[in-house]
Amino acid sequence: MASDGAEALEWVRKQKPNLILSDVNMPVMNGYEMCLALKSDPSTASIPVILLTTLSDPTSILEGLKCKADYYLTKPYESKYLLDRVQSLLVDASMAHCVETPAGLEITFEGRRHLVTADRRQMLNLLLSTYENAVQQNRELIKTQQKLNNLNQELQDQSRKLKISEKSFRALLENRVDAMLVMDAVGIIRFVNPAGERLFSHPSTELLGTYLPFTASPGEAKEMSLTTQDAGVVHLDLRAVSTDWEGQIAMLVSLRDITERIVDEQKIKEQQSRLQEANSMLEALATLDGLTGIKNHRVFKERLAEEYHRSARYTLPISLIILDVDHFKQYNDSFGHPAGDEVLKTVSKLLLENSRDTDLVARYGGEEFVVMLPLAQKDDALYLAERLRFEIQSFPWEKRTVTVSLGIATRTSNFTKAEDLISDADSALYASKHNGRNKVTHHDDVPNS
Ligand code: GH3
Ligand code: MG
Ligand code: MG
Repeated sequence: MASDGAEALEWVRKQKPNLILSDVNMPVMNGYEMCLALKSDPSTASIPVILLTTLSDPTSILEGLKCKADYYLTKPYESKYLLDRVQSLLVDASMAHCVETPAGLEITFEGRRHLVTADRRQMLNLLLSTYENAVQQNRELIKTQQKLNNLNQELQDQSRKLKISEKSFRALLENRVDAMLVMDAVGIIRFVNPAGERLFSHPSTELLGTYLPFTASPGEAKEMSLTTQDAGVVHLDLRAVSTDWEGQIAMLVSLRDITERIVDEQKIKEQQSRLQEANSMLEALATLDGLTGIKNHRVFKERLAEEYHRSARYTLPISLIILDVDHFKQYNDSFGHPAGDEVLKTVSKLLLENSRDTDLVARYGGEEFVVMLPLAQKDDALYLAERLRFEIQSFPWEKRTVTVSLGIATRTSNFTKAEDLISDADSALYASKHNGRNKVTHHDDVPNS
Protein backbone atom coordinates (compact mmCIF):
# COMPACT_ATOMS: atom_id res chain seq x y z
CA MET A 1 0.00 0.00 0.00
CA ALA A 2 1.34 3.39 -0.90
CA SER A 3 -0.39 6.73 -0.56
CA ASP A 4 1.02 8.34 -3.71
CA GLY A 5 2.94 7.61 -6.90
CA ALA A 6 6.33 8.62 -5.60
CA GLU A 7 6.04 6.49 -2.50
CA ALA A 8 4.85 3.56 -4.59
CA LEU A 9 7.78 3.93 -6.99
CA GLU A 10 10.27 3.77 -4.19
CA TRP A 11 8.52 0.83 -2.60
CA VAL A 12 8.13 -1.12 -5.85
CA ARG A 13 11.82 -0.73 -6.68
CA LYS A 14 12.71 -2.31 -3.36
CA GLN A 15 10.04 -4.96 -3.01
CA LYS A 16 9.40 -5.97 -6.64
CA PRO A 17 5.69 -6.96 -6.23
CA ASN A 18 3.94 -9.35 -8.62
CA LEU A 19 1.33 -6.84 -9.67
CA ILE A 20 0.52 -3.19 -9.15
CA LEU A 21 -2.98 -1.80 -8.75
CA SER A 22 -2.96 1.97 -8.88
CA ASP A 23 -5.17 5.00 -9.03
CA VAL A 24 -4.52 7.64 -11.64
CA ASN A 25 -5.19 10.74 -9.66
CA MET A 26 -2.80 10.84 -6.76
CA PRO A 27 -0.80 13.55 -5.02
CA VAL A 28 2.92 14.13 -5.64
CA MET A 29 3.09 11.80 -8.66
CA ASN A 30 0.05 10.63 -10.60
CA GLY A 31 -0.61 7.10 -11.89
CA TYR A 32 0.60 7.81 -15.42
CA GLU A 33 3.89 9.28 -14.28
CA MET A 34 4.45 6.47 -11.84
CA CYS A 35 3.65 3.82 -14.46
CA LEU A 36 5.92 5.45 -17.04
CA ALA A 37 8.75 5.53 -14.51
CA LEU A 38 8.23 1.83 -13.70
CA LYS A 39 8.01 0.79 -17.32
CA SER A 40 11.07 2.82 -18.25
CA ASP A 41 13.12 1.07 -15.57
CA PRO A 42 14.23 -2.37 -16.84
CA SER A 43 14.17 -3.72 -13.26
CA THR A 44 10.45 -2.99 -12.87
CA ALA A 45 9.24 -2.90 -16.48
CA SER A 46 7.85 -6.45 -16.38
CA ILE A 47 5.63 -5.90 -13.32
CA PRO A 48 2.03 -5.71 -14.58
CA VAL A 49 0.31 -2.40 -13.78
CA ILE A 50 -3.47 -2.03 -13.62
CA LEU A 51 -4.64 1.56 -13.55
CA LEU A 52 -7.96 2.22 -11.86
CA THR A 53 -9.46 5.24 -13.44
CA THR A 54 -12.59 7.27 -13.91
CA LEU A 55 -11.24 8.05 -17.38
CA SER A 56 -13.72 10.35 -18.91
CA ASP A 57 -12.53 10.56 -22.52
CA PRO A 58 -10.45 8.67 -25.07
CA THR A 59 -7.52 11.12 -24.81
CA SER A 60 -6.87 9.76 -21.35
CA ILE A 61 -6.46 6.25 -22.75
CA LEU A 62 -3.82 7.66 -25.04
CA GLU A 63 -2.13 8.96 -21.90
CA GLY A 64 -2.41 5.45 -20.55
CA LEU A 65 -0.98 3.88 -23.66
CA LYS A 66 1.91 6.30 -23.56
CA CYS A 67 2.67 5.32 -20.00
CA LYS A 68 2.55 1.62 -21.02
CA ALA A 69 0.10 0.45 -18.39
CA ASP A 70 -0.96 -3.19 -18.80
CA TYR A 71 -4.63 -2.70 -18.16
CA TYR A 72 -7.28 -0.15 -17.31
CA LEU A 73 -10.22 -0.66 -15.15
CA THR A 74 -12.79 2.08 -15.05
CA LYS A 75 -14.31 2.85 -11.73
CA PRO A 76 -16.71 1.71 -10.45
CA TYR A 77 -15.77 -1.86 -11.28
CA GLU A 78 -17.02 -5.29 -10.32
CA SER A 79 -14.65 -7.15 -8.05
CA LYS A 80 -15.08 -10.39 -10.04
CA TYR A 81 -13.91 -8.58 -13.12
CA LEU A 82 -10.91 -7.13 -11.32
CA LEU A 83 -9.95 -10.54 -9.94
CA ASP A 84 -10.17 -12.16 -13.44
CA ARG A 85 -7.93 -9.47 -14.74
CA VAL A 86 -5.46 -9.84 -11.88
CA GLN A 87 -5.39 -13.57 -12.47
CA SER A 88 -4.70 -13.38 -16.23
CA LEU A 89 -2.04 -10.75 -15.71
CA LEU A 90 -0.36 -12.87 -13.06
CA VAL A 91 -0.50 -15.92 -15.31
CA ASP A 92 1.00 -13.89 -18.10
CA ALA A 93 3.45 -12.02 -15.96
CA SER A 94 6.24 -14.52 -16.05
CA MET A 95 6.09 -14.92 -19.80
CA ALA A 96 5.10 -11.30 -20.53
CA HIS A 97 1.39 -11.06 -21.34
CA CYS A 98 1.83 -9.64 -24.78
CA VAL A 99 4.18 -11.69 -26.84
CA GLU A 100 5.00 -10.48 -30.25
CA THR A 101 5.57 -13.31 -32.66
CA PRO A 102 6.27 -13.06 -36.33
CA ALA A 103 2.65 -14.14 -36.89
CA GLY A 104 1.20 -11.34 -34.76
CA LEU A 105 0.53 -10.30 -31.20
CA GLU A 106 -0.39 -12.94 -28.66
CA ILE A 107 -2.60 -11.71 -25.81
CA THR A 108 -4.58 -13.34 -23.03
CA PHE A 109 -8.23 -12.39 -22.44
CA GLU A 110 -10.60 -14.11 -20.07
CA GLY A 111 -8.14 -16.92 -19.55
CA ARG A 112 -7.65 -17.61 -23.25
CA ARG A 113 -4.82 -16.77 -25.57
CA HIS A 114 -5.60 -14.84 -28.69
CA LEU A 115 -3.33 -14.26 -31.68
CA VAL A 116 -3.97 -10.82 -33.08
CA THR A 117 -2.52 -10.20 -36.54
CA ALA A 118 -3.81 -6.69 -37.15
CA ASP A 119 -1.27 -3.93 -37.35
CA ARG A 120 -0.75 -1.62 -34.38
CA ARG A 121 -2.54 1.39 -35.88
CA GLN A 122 -5.57 -0.73 -36.69
CA MET A 123 -5.61 -2.16 -33.16
CA LEU A 124 -5.26 1.21 -31.62
CA ASN A 125 -8.14 2.66 -33.65
CA LEU A 126 -10.32 -0.31 -32.80
CA LEU A 127 -9.46 -0.03 -29.13
CA LEU A 128 -10.09 3.70 -29.08
CA SER A 129 -13.45 3.35 -30.81
CA THR A 130 -14.51 0.63 -28.37
CA TYR A 131 -13.33 2.78 -25.55
CA GLU A 132 -15.12 5.83 -26.89
CA ASN A 133 -18.29 3.78 -26.97
CA ALA A 134 -17.73 2.64 -23.40
CA VAL A 135 -17.12 6.20 -22.26
CA GLN A 136 -20.32 7.26 -23.98
CA GLN A 137 -22.27 4.57 -22.17
CA ASN A 138 -20.59 5.56 -18.96
CA ARG A 139 -21.75 9.14 -19.46
CA GLU A 140 -25.32 7.90 -19.99
CA LEU A 141 -24.98 5.86 -16.84
CA ILE A 142 -23.74 8.87 -14.94
CA LYS A 143 -26.70 10.89 -16.20
CA THR A 144 -29.12 8.16 -15.14
CA GLN A 145 -27.33 7.96 -11.83
CA GLN A 146 -27.76 11.72 -11.48
CA LYS A 147 -31.47 11.48 -12.20
CA LEU A 148 -31.81 8.73 -9.63
CA ASN A 149 -29.96 10.89 -7.15
CA ASN A 150 -32.33 13.78 -7.87
CA LEU A 151 -35.34 11.55 -7.42
CA ASN A 152 -33.92 10.28 -4.20
CA GLN A 153 -33.35 13.82 -3.05
CA GLU A 154 -36.95 14.70 -3.90
CA LEU A 155 -38.16 11.72 -1.94
CA GLN A 156 -36.10 12.77 1.03
CA ASP A 157 -37.44 16.32 0.74
CA GLN A 158 -41.00 15.06 0.62
CA SER A 159 -40.50 12.83 3.59
CA ARG A 160 -38.97 15.77 5.46
CA LYS A 161 -41.92 17.95 4.51
CA LEU A 162 -44.29 15.19 5.62
CA LYS A 163 -42.54 15.09 8.95
CA ILE A 164 -42.80 18.87 9.24
CA SER A 165 -46.50 18.80 8.35
CA GLU A 166 -47.06 15.99 10.86
CA LYS A 167 -45.39 18.18 13.43
CA SER A 168 -47.58 21.17 12.62
CA PHE A 169 -50.64 18.89 12.59
CA ARG A 170 -49.75 17.81 16.11
CA ALA A 171 -49.13 21.40 17.16
CA LEU A 172 -52.52 22.33 15.76
CA LEU A 173 -54.20 19.56 17.72
CA GLU A 174 -52.29 20.45 20.88
CA ASN A 175 -53.56 24.02 20.82
CA ARG A 176 -57.22 23.35 20.06
CA VAL A 177 -59.77 24.51 22.61
CA ASP A 178 -61.78 21.41 21.71
CA ALA A 179 -60.71 18.06 23.09
CA MET A 180 -58.91 16.16 20.32
CA LEU A 181 -58.23 12.44 20.41
CA VAL A 182 -56.65 10.09 17.91
CA MET A 183 -57.73 6.47 18.03
CA ASP A 184 -56.07 3.65 16.16
CA ALA A 185 -57.95 1.08 14.07
CA VAL A 186 -58.77 -0.97 17.20
CA GLY A 187 -60.14 2.05 19.07
CA ILE A 188 -57.22 2.62 21.41
CA ILE A 189 -56.32 6.21 22.25
CA ARG A 190 -53.02 7.17 20.59
CA PHE A 191 -53.10 10.92 21.17
CA VAL A 192 -54.97 13.31 23.41
CA ASN A 193 -54.51 17.07 23.59
CA PRO A 194 -54.49 19.16 26.80
CA ALA A 195 -58.19 20.04 26.37
CA GLY A 196 -58.88 16.29 26.20
CA GLU A 197 -56.87 15.70 29.38
CA ARG A 198 -58.97 18.33 31.15
CA LEU A 199 -62.24 16.88 29.84
CA PHE A 200 -61.41 13.35 30.99
CA SER A 201 -59.68 14.58 34.18
CA HIS A 202 -56.61 12.42 33.47
CA PRO A 203 -53.14 13.15 32.12
CA SER A 204 -52.44 11.84 28.63
CA THR A 205 -49.99 9.31 30.10
CA GLU A 206 -52.98 7.57 31.70
CA LEU A 207 -55.31 8.00 28.74
CA LEU A 208 -52.97 6.73 26.02
CA GLY A 209 -53.44 3.02 25.38
CA THR A 210 -56.96 2.95 26.84
CA TYR A 211 -60.28 2.80 25.02
CA LEU A 212 -62.73 5.67 24.47
CA PRO A 213 -65.61 5.68 26.97
CA PHE A 214 -68.09 6.04 24.04
CA THR A 215 -68.46 4.91 20.46
CA ALA A 216 -67.59 6.92 17.36
CA SER A 217 -67.07 6.02 13.75
CA PRO A 218 -65.38 7.97 10.95
CA GLY A 219 -67.68 10.54 9.37
CA GLU A 220 -69.91 10.66 12.44
CA ALA A 221 -71.24 13.93 13.87
CA LYS A 222 -73.48 13.83 16.92
CA GLU A 223 -74.35 15.51 20.17
CA MET A 224 -73.93 13.47 23.30
CA SER A 225 -73.55 13.86 27.02
CA LEU A 226 -70.83 12.46 29.21
CA THR A 227 -70.48 12.26 32.97
CA THR A 228 -67.06 13.56 33.93
CA GLN A 229 -65.20 13.49 37.21
CA ASP A 230 -64.63 17.23 37.49
CA ALA A 231 -67.55 18.87 35.71
CA GLY A 232 -70.35 16.33 36.14
CA VAL A 233 -72.55 15.96 33.06
CA VAL A 234 -71.13 17.76 30.05
CA HIS A 235 -72.79 18.04 26.66
CA LEU A 236 -70.50 17.47 23.72
CA ASP A 237 -70.56 17.95 20.00
CA LEU A 238 -68.64 15.01 18.54
CA ARG A 239 -67.05 14.93 15.08
CA ALA A 240 -65.02 11.96 13.87
CA VAL A 241 -62.92 11.75 10.71
CA SER A 242 -60.44 9.27 9.29
CA THR A 243 -56.84 10.33 9.46
CA ASP A 244 -53.29 9.04 9.25
CA TRP A 245 -51.34 8.80 12.46
CA GLU A 246 -47.66 7.84 12.42
CA GLY A 247 -48.25 6.08 9.11
CA GLN A 248 -51.25 4.09 10.34
CA ILE A 249 -54.96 4.44 9.56
CA ALA A 250 -56.57 6.21 12.48
CA MET A 251 -59.60 8.27 13.53
CA LEU A 252 -59.50 11.84 14.75
CA VAL A 253 -62.25 12.67 17.22
CA SER A 254 -63.02 16.24 18.25
CA LEU A 255 -65.23 16.97 21.24
CA ARG A 256 -66.60 20.46 21.67
CA ASP A 257 -68.12 21.36 25.01
CA ILE A 258 -71.62 22.67 24.24
CA THR A 259 -72.91 22.40 27.81
CA GLU A 260 -73.48 26.12 28.10
CA ARG A 261 -75.48 26.20 24.90
CA ILE A 262 -77.56 23.15 25.89
CA VAL A 263 -78.26 24.60 29.34
CA ASP A 264 -79.25 27.90 27.72
CA GLU A 265 -81.49 26.04 25.30
CA GLN A 266 -83.15 24.20 28.16
CA LYS A 267 -83.69 27.48 30.00
CA ILE A 268 -85.20 29.00 26.88
CA LYS A 269 -87.49 25.97 26.47
CA GLU A 270 -88.65 26.25 30.07
CA GLN A 271 -89.26 29.96 29.62
CA GLN A 272 -91.12 29.27 26.41
CA SER A 273 -93.43 26.75 28.05
CA ARG A 274 -94.06 29.16 30.95
CA LEU A 275 -94.81 31.84 28.42
CA GLN A 276 -97.19 29.49 26.62
CA GLU A 277 -98.96 28.74 29.90
CA ALA A 278 -99.26 32.43 30.64
CA ASN A 279 -100.54 33.03 27.13
CA SER A 280 -103.20 30.37 27.36
CA MET A 281 -104.21 31.76 30.74
CA LEU A 282 -104.46 35.20 29.22
CA GLU A 283 -106.46 33.84 26.35
CA ALA A 284 -108.81 32.09 28.76
CA LEU A 285 -109.19 35.32 30.70
CA ALA A 286 -109.94 37.19 27.52
CA THR A 287 -112.38 34.68 26.07
CA LEU A 288 -114.07 32.96 29.00
CA ASP A 289 -116.63 34.26 31.37
CA GLY A 290 -115.18 34.57 34.84
CA LEU A 291 -118.14 33.20 36.75
CA THR A 292 -119.38 30.34 34.60
CA GLY A 293 -116.28 29.42 32.62
CA ILE A 294 -118.17 29.37 29.34
CA LYS A 295 -117.36 31.67 26.40
CA ASN A 296 -117.95 35.36 27.03
CA HIS A 297 -119.90 37.98 25.17
CA ARG A 298 -116.90 39.10 23.13
CA VAL A 299 -116.23 35.62 21.73
CA PHE A 300 -119.90 35.21 20.98
CA LYS A 301 -119.98 38.43 18.97
CA GLU A 302 -116.87 37.45 17.01
CA ARG A 303 -118.02 33.91 16.25
CA LEU A 304 -121.51 35.08 15.37
CA ALA A 305 -120.09 37.58 12.88
CA GLU A 306 -117.96 34.82 11.26
CA GLU A 307 -120.71 32.23 11.14
CA TYR A 308 -123.31 34.74 9.97
CA HIS A 309 -120.99 35.81 7.16
CA ARG A 310 -120.41 32.22 6.06
CA SER A 311 -124.10 31.43 6.25
CA ALA A 312 -125.06 34.49 4.17
CA ARG A 313 -122.35 33.87 1.62
CA TYR A 314 -123.13 30.21 1.02
CA THR A 315 -126.87 30.48 1.76
CA LEU A 316 -126.58 28.12 4.69
CA PRO A 317 -129.01 28.18 7.60
CA ILE A 318 -128.01 29.58 10.98
CA SER A 319 -130.12 29.91 14.12
CA LEU A 320 -129.67 31.65 17.43
CA ILE A 321 -131.27 30.93 20.80
CA ILE A 322 -131.27 33.61 23.53
CA LEU A 323 -132.38 32.47 26.94
CA ASP A 324 -133.00 34.39 30.14
CA VAL A 325 -133.49 33.04 33.68
CA ASP A 326 -137.00 33.68 34.89
CA HIS A 327 -137.54 35.88 37.96
CA PHE A 328 -133.87 35.82 38.74
CA LYS A 329 -133.95 39.06 40.65
CA GLN A 330 -136.38 37.42 42.98
CA TYR A 331 -134.11 34.39 43.33
CA ASN A 332 -131.21 36.61 44.32
CA ASP A 333 -133.40 38.47 46.71
CA SER A 334 -134.65 35.27 48.32
CA PHE A 335 -131.49 33.21 48.51
CA GLY A 336 -128.67 35.69 48.18
CA HIS A 337 -126.36 36.62 45.37
CA PRO A 338 -123.93 33.68 45.85
CA ALA A 339 -126.84 31.22 45.47
CA GLY A 340 -127.80 33.15 42.33
CA ASP A 341 -124.27 32.69 41.05
CA GLU A 342 -124.61 28.92 41.56
CA VAL A 343 -127.76 28.95 39.46
CA LEU A 344 -125.92 30.70 36.65
CA LYS A 345 -123.15 28.11 36.80
CA THR A 346 -125.58 25.21 36.75
CA VAL A 347 -127.51 26.70 33.84
CA SER A 348 -124.21 27.08 31.93
CA LYS A 349 -123.30 23.46 32.64
CA LEU A 350 -126.72 22.22 31.46
CA LEU A 351 -126.45 24.30 28.28
CA LEU A 352 -123.03 22.85 27.49
CA GLU A 353 -124.09 19.29 28.26
CA ASN A 354 -127.09 19.49 26.00
CA SER A 355 -125.58 21.17 22.97
CA ARG A 356 -123.11 19.97 20.34
CA ASP A 357 -119.46 20.91 20.04
CA THR A 358 -120.24 22.79 16.86
CA ASP A 359 -122.75 24.96 18.73
CA LEU A 360 -121.49 27.95 20.63
CA VAL A 361 -122.74 28.41 24.17
CA ALA A 362 -121.90 31.81 25.71
CA ARG A 363 -122.95 34.10 28.49
CA TYR A 364 -124.57 37.07 26.84
CA GLY A 365 -124.63 39.13 30.04
CA GLY A 366 -126.26 39.01 33.50
CA GLU A 367 -128.62 36.02 33.61
CA GLU A 368 -128.88 35.85 29.81
CA PHE A 369 -127.22 33.19 27.64
CA VAL A 370 -126.95 32.49 23.92
CA VAL A 371 -126.59 29.27 21.94
CA MET A 372 -125.52 29.83 18.37
CA LEU A 373 -126.39 26.98 15.99
CA PRO A 374 -124.56 27.04 12.64
CA LEU A 375 -126.38 25.04 9.92
CA ALA A 376 -129.49 24.73 12.09
CA GLN A 377 -132.93 25.32 10.56
CA LYS A 378 -135.88 26.57 12.59
CA ASP A 379 -136.98 23.02 13.54
CA ASP A 380 -133.52 21.99 14.69
CA ALA A 381 -133.30 25.11 16.84
CA LEU A 382 -136.81 24.62 18.24
CA TYR A 383 -135.98 21.03 19.12
CA LEU A 384 -132.81 21.98 20.97
CA ALA A 385 -134.42 24.99 22.69
CA GLU A 386 -137.22 22.85 23.98
CA ARG A 387 -134.76 20.29 25.29
CA LEU A 388 -132.78 23.02 27.07
CA ARG A 389 -135.90 24.45 28.60
CA PHE A 390 -136.96 21.00 29.78
CA GLU A 391 -133.54 20.00 31.15
CA ILE A 392 -133.25 23.24 33.17
CA GLN A 393 -136.74 22.98 34.56
CA SER A 394 -136.21 19.29 35.43
CA PHE A 395 -132.89 19.83 37.15
CA PRO A 396 -133.13 18.98 40.87
CA TRP A 397 -132.65 22.57 42.05
CA GLU A 398 -131.82 22.90 45.71
CA LYS A 399 -133.81 25.99 46.71
CA ARG A 400 -136.58 26.11 44.14
CA THR A 401 -137.19 25.21 40.52
CA VAL A 402 -135.42 27.45 38.10
CA THR A 403 -136.85 28.01 34.64
CA VAL A 404 -135.73 29.90 31.59
CA SER A 405 -137.51 31.62 28.72
CA LEU A 406 -136.08 31.18 25.22
CA GLY A 407 -136.33 33.12 21.99
CA ILE A 408 -135.13 31.77 18.64
CA ALA A 409 -134.32 33.37 15.30
CA THR A 410 -133.23 31.73 12.03
CA ARG A 411 -131.56 33.72 9.27
CA THR A 412 -133.86 34.74 6.45
CA SER A 413 -133.08 36.44 3.13
CA ASN A 414 -134.34 39.72 4.62
CA PHE A 415 -131.44 39.82 7.06
CA THR A 416 -128.59 42.18 6.30
CA LYS A 417 -126.38 41.68 9.37
CA ALA A 418 -125.64 39.40 12.32
CA GLU A 419 -127.38 41.80 14.70
CA ASP A 420 -130.67 41.10 12.90
CA LEU A 421 -130.43 37.57 14.26
CA ILE A 422 -129.91 38.89 17.80
CA SER A 423 -132.75 41.37 17.71
CA ASP A 424 -135.19 38.79 16.27
CA ALA A 425 -134.19 36.22 18.90
CA ASP A 426 -134.54 38.91 21.54
CA SER A 427 -138.08 39.80 20.48
CA ALA A 428 -138.98 36.09 20.44
CA LEU A 429 -137.60 35.87 24.01
CA TYR A 430 -139.77 38.81 24.95
CA ALA A 431 -142.75 36.90 23.58
CA SER A 432 -141.83 33.86 25.72
CA LYS A 433 -141.68 36.07 28.80
CA HIS A 434 -144.92 37.71 27.83
CA ASN A 435 -146.60 34.33 27.39
CA GLY A 436 -145.91 33.26 30.95
CA ARG A 437 -142.18 32.38 30.97
CA ASN A 438 -140.61 28.86 30.85
CA LYS A 439 -141.51 28.97 27.15
CA VAL A 440 -139.78 28.60 23.78
CA THR A 441 -140.76 30.98 20.98
CA HIS A 442 -139.42 31.17 17.44
CA HIS A 443 -139.43 34.63 15.93
CA ASP A 444 -141.40 33.34 12.94
CA ASP A 445 -144.25 32.53 15.32
CA VAL A 446 -144.36 35.89 17.06
CA PRO A 447 -147.52 37.72 15.96
CA ASN A 448 -146.97 41.10 14.19
CA SER A 449 -143.25 40.45 13.89
P1 GH3 B 1 -137.48 38.13 34.28
O1 GH3 B 1 -138.15 36.85 34.55
O2 GH3 B 1 -138.37 39.10 33.64
O3 GH3 B 1 -136.26 37.94 33.49
O4 GH3 B 1 -137.13 38.71 35.65
P2 GH3 B 1 -135.68 38.84 36.26
O5 GH3 B 1 -135.76 39.13 37.68
O6 GH3 B 1 -134.90 37.64 35.95
O7 GH3 B 1 -135.10 40.03 35.47
P3 GH3 B 1 -134.40 41.33 35.93
O8 GH3 B 1 -133.76 41.91 34.69
O9 GH3 B 1 -135.34 42.19 36.66
O10 GH3 B 1 -133.30 40.89 36.91
C1 GH3 B 1 -132.15 40.28 36.55
C2 GH3 B 1 -131.31 40.03 37.74
O11 GH3 B 1 -130.19 39.22 37.51
C3 GH3 B 1 -130.83 41.34 38.35
C4 GH3 B 1 -129.38 41.06 38.64
O12 GH3 B 1 -128.98 41.37 39.95
C5 GH3 B 1 -129.22 39.57 38.43
N1 GH3 B 1 -127.92 39.27 38.03
C6 GH3 B 1 -127.31 39.70 36.89
N2 GH3 B 1 -126.05 39.17 36.83
C7 GH3 B 1 -125.88 38.42 37.97
C8 GH3 B 1 -124.83 37.63 38.47
O13 GH3 B 1 -123.75 37.54 37.89
N3 GH3 B 1 -125.01 36.99 39.64
C9 GH3 B 1 -126.17 37.07 40.33
N4 GH3 B 1 -126.32 36.41 41.46
N5 GH3 B 1 -127.16 37.82 39.87
C10 GH3 B 1 -127.06 38.50 38.70
MG1 MG C 1 -132.68 39.49 31.91
MG1 MG D 1 -134.49 37.21 33.87
